[in-house]
Amino acid sequence: MGTLISSYIVVVSISGVLNALLALFAYYKKTDFAGIRAFICSSFFSAVYTFGFALELSGNTMQEIGFWIKVEYLGMPFIAPCSLIMIMHFVGLERLVKKPLLALLYSVPAISALLVWTNEYHHLFYKSMVFRENAPTPLIDIVMGPWYIVQGSMTFGCMLAGMLLILWQWNRMKRVYRRQMITIFIGQFLPALGAFLYLIDRTPYGMDPVPVIMSVTSTLYFWAILSRGMLTAAPIARENLFESMRDGVLVTDRSDMLVDYNRAAAGMLEGLDSSAIGRPLAQLFLPAGKEAVDYVMNADPLLSGERELAWNISGSTWYYQVRSSPVLKKDGSVAGRMIMLIDVTERTLLQEKLQQLATVDSLTGIYNRTHFMELSRELLDEALNSLTPLSIILLDIDFFKSINDRYGHQYGDMALQHVVGVCAKHVREGDVFGRYGGEEFVMCLPHTPLEQAAAMSEQIRSDVERSPMYTVSGPVNVTASFGVVEAFRLNVSLEELLSEADHALYTSKRNGRNAVHMSSGTAITHFTP
Ligand code: GH3
Ligand code: MG
Ligand code: MG
Repeated sequence: MGTLISSYIVVVSISGVLNALLALFAYYKKTDFAGIRAFICSSFFSAVYTFGFALELSGNTMQEIGFWIKVEYLGMPFIAPCSLIMIMHFVGLERLVKKPLLALLYSVPAISALLVWTNEYHHLFYKSMVFRENAPTPLIDIVMGPWYIVQGSMTFGCMLAGMLLILWQWNRMKRVYRRQMITIFIGQFLPALGAFLYLIDRTPYGMDPVPVIMSVTSTLYFWAILSRGMLTAAPIARENLFESMRDGVLVTDRSDMLVDYNRAAAGMLEGLDSSAIGRPLAQLFLPAGKEAVDYVMNADPLLSGERELAWNISGSTWYYQVRSSPVLKKDGSVAGRMIMLIDVTERTLLQEKLQQLATVDSLTGIYNRTHFMELSRELLDEALNSLTPLSIILLDIDFFKSINDRYGHQYGDMALQHVVGVCAKHVREGDVFGRYGGEEFVMCLPHTPLEQAAAMSEQIRSDVERSPMYTVSGPVNVTASFGVVEAFRLNVSLEELLSEADHALYTSKRNGRNAVHMSSGTAITHFTP
């Protein structure tokens, strides 16, 4: 029997060493896991408890044994609360780890420790302690005091809560974290079982088996930390990271079937829900339109690539940068691919807005001078290269200043919009129409010879003349004068053409306004239909 006890003491001491090493190891391990402190504490308290227990077993007198029991109580009551806090971090409940809970979890063990050390004065923890008569080695039997029951309930409550939290999270956690969960579960379950058997007196010689069990659980923890990357980061934190990303992520396997997706992705692709797992990726992009389906189907699964695409979600258009990149296994082989959806709607709309501001006249909505010049220069180059006709019409509202003077600037603005509206009806596809200056407008007409451009000007002129602007102060008659020119010479510049058109326009003004004159480069003639 003596040798059995000796081996028991050896095993318990080893358990103490393992726990102390575990605490040190966790202390020096660089990790993102927020629960690491609770883990270090729980390992440290386990070490105190197991060493105390080993020394209790080797004690011979009531005094020695009593002292080492007191030492045990500096560790044992704290282990379960620390483990529970560690598990709360592990399953993503760290937001609940706040002062009130910590105060509750640690005050009971602290009181227990205090009561054990002062037990002889009040007997609140142990009613009595007596040497066991027929034991092979000096063992002490105790009679529970009231606080013993409080402490026991606390320990079992924490262990049970820890196990329940793990079971509760079991299905929500990724499979890669299951091993860690099993480890932690066993780390809770085995000591709880041991403590339970001890309480109902089903252990050999009524000895506490928990310190021995702890050698098993701490070895298990060592294995999990060293080979399974345990305690590097809380799995739920990673899960939350994936879930809380603003960018949508879809992960497929090698045959391009959906394996996983995050919440953001579900908001970006209509119909993407848990039933989509296992369905082909291309099918999931059907609501995004043909272009998106084509892109995800044809993107090389071995290469990274991206494309900007737009599709409708409940009636409005969203712009996404769609990135496809391979997902590789540790050995470099392809496991599938990841599609990332980055919302660029705001940026795209801003770009469009800036583009519009840079090209469009805000009052009339037609091109501004700069953009007109840019587009017309291209058309002129094309026309000269292809020897096709191109004409330019310049028009200026007559006596516009008097509209401003008589009705006010606001009516002047309305008159500008009114004239643009009339002109726009005559503008054909391919023509470029812009605001040249204050009340001067310009049209560039590709594939249009001079006579045709003059005829078109005449139609616009008569349309403007016959379309008064209706205002609350009554109808306001508006007319305009026109100058028309064709690019006859091979090396003519846009500026030269505009200058010639301006001369023709000036001739219209000089000859009584509300008229069309055309310039043939050498002569300016009045157009009569
Ligand atoms: P003409 O028949 O010789 O062209 O006479 P006009 O009065 O039309 O020409 P003038 O060049 O003397 O006056 C043009 C006026 O247009 C002067 C300017 O105050 C006004 N104007 C220029 N831009 C705007 C604008 O955006 N809004 C308004 N309301 N007036 C403008
Ligand atoms: Mg004018
Ligand atoms: Mg003018």
